[in-house]
Amino acid sequence: MQSFIEGMPKAELHLHLEGTLEPELKFDLAASNGLDLPYGSVEEMRAAYNFDDLPSFLAVYYEGMSVLLREEGRRRPKRRWDCGASSSCVSSGT
Ligand SMILES: [Zn+2]
Repeated sequence: MQSFIEGMPKAELHLHLEGTLEPELKFDLAASNGLDLPYGSVEEMRAAYNFDDLPSFLAVYYEGMSVLLREEGRRRPKRRWDCGASSSCVSSGT
C-alpha cells in the first residue's frame, strides 16, 4: 500500500508561496534584497520551522513574505517546489 501511494501522481491544490521557501533560498532572496534574517545558519532557520504556536508560525510566515519583494523572488520558489520539495514531483493547482 505504501509504494502504491508513493507512486500515485500528486497535486498540491492550495499552497502559500511563503511556505515553499527553503532556508537556502530564503537566505539568497534576503541577501539580494539587502535584508538581514535573524539566523546564523540554514540549520538554525530550519529549526524555526518547527512551530509550537501561532505567533511562532506567523513570525516565519511574515519573514517569508518580507523576502519576496521582486518578481524574481516570486518565481523562484515555485520552480523549486515543483520537483524539489519531496521525493514525488508535485504540480501546483494554483
Ligand atoms: Zn491558505
